[in-house]
Amino acid sequence: MRSNNKNKTYTITAIIILLILFLPFNGFAMNSDNGDTLILLGNNKLAPIVYMDKGTANGLLHINPYPERIKQYDFSNPILRSEFSMFVHSGNTSLRTIDDLRGKLVGVEAGGYPSALLGEYDEIYIEIIYDWEASFRDIINGDLDAIIVDRWIGEYELAQSRIAGIKIVENPIETQYSRIAVRKGDVETLSLINSGLTEITEDGTLDKIMEEWQGKRVIYVTEDYYQTFFLHSAILFLSLTTLVAILLVTKYRRLSKKLEANIKERTEELHHTNKMLKIANHKLEQISKIDSLTSIENRRAFDIVFNRAYRLCSRQGIPLALIMIDIDNFKIFNDTYGHLVGDQALIRIAELIKGVIKRPGDLAARYGGEEFVVMLMNTTEEGALVVAEEIRRRVEQLGIENEQIQALITVSLGLTSLVPHDNMEAKELIDRADRALYKSKENGRNKVTVWKDQP
Ligand code: GH3
Ligand code: MG
Ligand code: MG
Repeated sequence: MRSNNKNKTYTITAIIILLILFLPFNGFAMNSDNGDTLILLGNNKLAPIVYMDKGTANGLLHINPYPERIKQYDFSNPILRSEFSMFVHSGNTSLRTIDDLRGKLVGVEAGGYPSALLGEYDEIYIEIIYDWEASFRDIINGDLDAIIVDRWIGEYELAQSRIAGIKIVENPIETQYSRIAVRKGDVETLSLINSGLTEITEDGTLDKIMEEWQGKRVIYVTEDYYQTFFLHSAILFLSLTTLVAILLVTKYRRLSKKLEANIKERTEELHHTNKMLKIANHKLEQISKIDSLTSIENRRAFDIVFNRAYRLCSRQGIPLALIMIDIDNFKIFNDTYGHLVGDQALIRIAELIKGVIKRPGDLAARYGGEEFVVMLMNTTEEGALVVAEEIRRRVEQLGIENEQIQALITVSLGLTSLVPHDNMEAKELIDRADRALYKSKENGRNKVTVWKDQP
């Protein structure tokens, strides 16, 4: 499996280089019939030592020159940069340069540049890598001291094998540029290759290809690192989520408290306003039921109370009495003493009537100009007669003061009392009292008349 991956890596690299070379060398392809085709040999076992001296190949792909090879081949301008790096146990701090490898067992690929390089040092023991995973494991076990390989390839293989505990020494032991090798002395092919390379370097094609392939560098992540990273990420995520949740809850609580306080304040305001409105309404209602001159209930108040009392008495089967009162010759009184004195008389008589009415259910009201009405709950004619007579007598005794003159004033009264029933309307009671009052007037005024069926 590992060597398959390795093979793939090199096959891909070979294809790139072929692309690089064939783009500017279309001419060669076209001339293939004449035997001028540029044939390059790649390899799938690293060391590109395959060279067809008398065959058809003109060059070798992508190899790093070293003294032995230089004796055999001529090399093109550089193509790819290779950083030959040391892969060692992550706890190892002693191996940093190639000199540190003396007396050590070092893994390299067969026939590669590192194997040639290390071959120059007698004291370094070389072991050929056949299985990357096994070799990395050897480093962990201490059976191998280091691996020297192109960093790209080594990183890729390390990532593939997923073995933890191996580090790459930061400074490469050697940086090399791989090139195309041609037959020694084949100046023509070399110059064609070089001019092709120059062209694709100058027009940016090489950079584009490098950008595409170099950008896909493999990042090696061990399982330990992956687990730690995942754990840390999870902790961070949970912490952040908790923090955000706490912040949101705090904000929500603060807001809802503020909102609650606002609502409470508004509700209190509303209650207060309602109360004020009720008071104002009540006052208005009171005012609208009070006569402005005499300060006793007006006709409107009487109508409401009277109709209610009428229904109540009807339901309970109890008598309701009504006394209508009219000031005698009030027109003459006004004409004699003036309107203001007339008003005073109205006020005094109203007070007087109110003073006579004592029971809670009873009502005295100003019915019209100089007319008053008294309503007595649960009262018979006899009871009403007593009240009416009391009013008549007191008014007679009142005497309205006017510039030291005691002006006499009297009232005429008519009364009635009945137990209301369904066949009768409330205004009937008023009519009867009115008619009785009329009788009092007819009979000379300053009188009380009780309504009779056939007067
Ligand atoms: P009678 O004995 O037949 O009732 O005679 P009268 O003059 O009282 O009757 P009439 O209805 O002809 O006159 C009522 C008078 O009451 C007319 C008006 O000048 C007077 N009057 C009504 N309202 C007021 C008031 O608010 N103030 C004053 N000063 N007078 C009023
Ligand atoms: Mg009148
Ligand atoms: Mg009158």
